[in-house]
Amino acid sequence: MSNSTKYIFVTGGVTSSLGKGIISASLAKLLQERGYTVTIQKLDPYINIDPGTLNPYEHGECYVTNDGAETDLDLGHYERFLNVPTSQSNNVTTGRIYQSVMDKERRGEFLGKTVQVIPHITNEIKERIQILGKSGDYEIVITEIGGTVGDIESLPYIESVRQMMWEFPDDCLVVHLTLVPYLAAAGELKTKPTQHSVKALLEVGVQPDILVCRTEHPLDNSIRKKIARFCNVNPTAVIESIDADSIYKVPLLMQHEELDKVVLQKLDLPAKGAIELTAWKNFLDRIENPKRTVKIGLVGKYIELKDSYKSIAEAFVHAGAFNECEVDLKWIHSEKITLDNVAEELGELDGVLVAPGFGSRGIRGKITSIQYVRENNIPFFGICLGMQCAVVEFARNVIGWNDAHTTEISEDCDHPVITIMEEQKKIMDMGGTMRLGAYKCKLSAGSHVAEAYNQEVVKERHRHRYEFNNKYMAEFEKHGMIATGKNPETGLVEVVEIPEHPWFVGAQFHPEYKSTVENPHPLFIAFVKASMKNAE
Ligand code: GLN
Repeated sequence: MSNSTKYIFVTGGVTSSLGKGIISASLAKLLQERGYTVTIQKLDPYINIDPGTLNPYEHGECYVTNDGAETDLDLGHYERFLNVPTSQSNNVTTGRIYQSVMDKERRGEFLGKTVQVIPHITNEIKERIQILGKSGDYEIVITEIGGTVGDIESLPYIESVRQMMWEFPDDCLVVHLTLVPYLAAAGELKTKPTQHSVKALLEVGVQPDILVCRTEHPLDNSIRKKIARFCNVNPTAVIESIDADSIYKVPLLMQHEELDKVVLQKLDLPAKGAIELTAWKNFLDRIENPKRTVKIGLVGKYIELKDSYKSIAEAFVHAGAFNECEVDLKWIHSEKITLDNVAEELGELDGVLVAPGFGSRGIRGKITSIQYVRENNIPFFGICLGMQCAVVEFARNVIGWNDAHTTEISEDCDHPVITIMEEQKKIMDMGGTMRLGAYKCKLSAGSHVAEAYNQEVVKERHRHRYEFNNKYMAEFEKHGMIATGKNPETGLVEVVEIPEHPWFVGAQFHPEYKSTVENPHPLFIAFVKASMKNAE
């Protein structure tokens, strides 16, 4: 066995949305079970420096790592599957690659050479791929290449893969994810799109080692042999990836197809351990056989694209399984909630979560929803903007400051109960300038949050510019909204609660980013529990 890190590249063909992220995470999970330290990286072919400036309608949620990187939502899947944190190095975009090369050019680092896609851009890509391997923390690095083979923008990435395979032939492997469509009229599975997408890879010098074939129907032996023959792979390296009703079943489907075995064999690595996945199977069993159901409303303004709230939705799956309870999420558009329909929209719910977000669209509906659940003792969980709206609602309807607002929306209101942080005021750039990443939070004894975490100090991830305005703290506490979580160094408010209410918690941070299959998040567990109690 060689000592160097092994690199597995995952490419996609035929169409987007085949689930490269889930296949990468599932393969990583199996290799982790086999006894290897594994991480997954995503290379995104767009020119934004990171997805932080993207509207969620473009690519869904922006996921945030401990070290404050704003990343693609696939990193959330990697963490939820592997239970290992990712970092800035796990997501690289074309924008970042070019920015780095251009900075080097300005510093004169290329010594008068003409700077070109090959070798300068590809060198930068190869360096980024190897950063995680060279950290010494991982034996296997899986690199998922965003986009579809044949796209102009992913060419430099595929070229970098070709070069790495040439430079380290024993340490690299390419898994190509493709589609085998079923033509109902012909009653047949069709292999031609797969042949074409492998041909597109071959044209740029990359022979895939393994083909993972997304399909709606099982692949029989003749189909596997046909694909193998046309695409120069072994029949055992043709892996069926049949549609599953839960993403969490995919590791078991891949195990059944022996994807991990084929990978280890091709990389000449021994299986250090057997695949047990005991906790994982137990979790799946709880998802499949819930003892009860709760209905929870998710109030947000991007609900037309459910990926905008990916981590929240998954955190509910984890917390539901923990509580042996199915969480039936009702997606509610915040723009559609009014004083007239709020009782009808929220009245039947066992709990309500008000989502994070930016800007004024849908704010009124969020505040109206919060007033309703506060007054009707329905468990409430507000995250980031959801927490800020809870503070605004309380100021207006309980303290009586009718004009109270967040300065994000009303800059010169008389009671700016949520306001911009001092250090944010002078920042003009939009990208990467928020309060980002993990910060400590000290919890008050006896609060709902302290009870949920059963810990005094926790660390949670942030992504925001505005904060609770501490100038008004005494007035809030006098009226019954208490800051039960604070940053121990700065005194910034991280959690507010209404102790008089059965469960009313607003968090300035984003707990959803840290929920995994093996570590469901304590606040989601407690919120689901409170909703279950309310349902009874
Ligand atoms: N827009 C708010 C802020 O910047 C909340 C951000 C969020 O919900 N992630 O503070």
